[in-house]
Amino acid sequence: MRRLDKSNAHFKQALTKLPLGVSSNFRYWGEDRTIYIEQGRGGRIRDIDGNAYIDYRLAYGPVILGYADPRVDEAAREGMEIGGVFALATEREYEVACRVSKMVPAAELVRFSNSGTEAVMAALRIARAFTGKDGHVVLEGGYHGVFSEVMWYSEVEDWEPGQGDPKVMPYGDGVPVVTKRLFHTAPINDANAIEDLFRKHRDDIGALLIEPIMGNCCAITANRQYLHDVRELCDRYNVLMIVDEVKTGFRVAKGGAQELFDVKADLCTFAKAMGNGYPIAVVAGREDVMRCVGDGVVHGGTFTGHSVSLAAAAKTLEILDETDALETINDYGLALQQGMSRILVERGIPHSFTGTPALMGLFFAAEPPGDYRAWVDSDYEFYDALAPELHDQGILVEPDSREPWFLCEAHADGCLDDTLAGFEKAVDLTIEKLSNGKDRASSG
Ligand code: PLP
Repeated sequence: MRRLDKSNAHFKQALTKLPLGVSSNFRYWGEDRTIYIEQGRGGRIRDIDGNAYIDYRLAYGPVILGYADPRVDEAAREGMEIGGVFALATEREYEVACRVSKMVPAAELVRFSNSGTEAVMAALRIARAFTGKDGHVVLEGGYHGVFSEVMWYSEVEDWEPGQGDPKVMPYGDGVPVVTKRLFHTAPINDANAIEDLFRKHRDDIGALLIEPIMGNCCAITANRQYLHDVRELCDRYNVLMIVDEVKTGFRVAKGGAQELFDVKADLCTFAKAMGNGYPIAVVAGREDVMRCVGDGVVHGGTFTGHSVSLAAAAKTLEILDETDALETINDYGLALQQGMSRILVERGIPHSFTGTPALMGLFFAAEPPGDYRAWVDSDYEFYDALAPELHDQGILVEPDSREPWFLCEAHADGCLDDTLAGFEKAVDLTIEKLSNGKDRASSG
């Protein structure tokens, strides 16, 4: 049985100085299940109690090659020699910008930020400046960072079809109500709903934010026709299409979701995988749009273009662009899906996968949901019960079924058999746990 004595003790101590004992609300898993990490190497991490895990969270996506990848870390050390930040530019910004443009044709001009949140904030500001319109559309189930203009969501869990649209709620306290006026939402894969919004708010909506594979909603995926319809609607209604590739970028394909779906954004944002874990992000896009930066639009930040992150990004992108790292990840992911399917089929458990093998959702329904509203009908009770069992078997996935599984190149280095053995045990324990619970309920 996995023990978390040291993590539990550290949690109590950390709580005296850190709200929830952590640095991000999403890292708090309850007072007896919050884990503190000692080290990550390759596709595996170890907590301070010595429990080892094969990690399929990968920091929510940044780790694309593996933890502490020696090629990237060596480059980062060389970046450290440069000196960090100067409130002046360095030559490598141009080198990395060229690589981004080469891999993503829509990225005609590039600006660096530090995080996905900052990049999306910048993209929205640029879009407002370019179109002269302040409002934006976020698709239901979409997540675009921790700034107020996007911190609204559709409450689908208590919603029933036929009740009209789900209520739009703030993610939490402190999100100013005034930002709700800028926020519009519609389900993914419904181009008519987008056109209705664009028509109704013609003078207000200047941007549409979209993750073609919803990295925060179980990798629910846009269909190709929908994306091309949305592209055309954006052009028709003078709305900039912002493809948020913070999770998909340099992961689902060299050119991200835009390459997979053959769609070109007006603006696009990247972060996570571009530095294999070093903090760096990008807002990029059409030259005429991006030239607003410096010509009316302010963009900056003390730490943008940090020499360590830039060096790490230069090396990570070089590897992703010039080696078969992404094919390795894809092959591993397909083998993993096949193995998991075999285990689930043997037990008569309906399931399906979404997204791509590098960023995949696992659903306990024969057909994956086509939008966030349909997610409500999938059996996330089984997923919710399975996740802690997986943790106890040394397989780390997000406890919330909406967060997809992430894969990295280093997983291919010996993680498959261990994962499948742990998965099989965890599934059996989950079946047992749920049937015991049902037995108790029916005898109680
Ligand atoms: N956009 C998307 C699609 C994301 O998934 C995230 C984070 O998960 C963000 C933006 C925000 O990025 P960050 O956490 O780096 O601020």
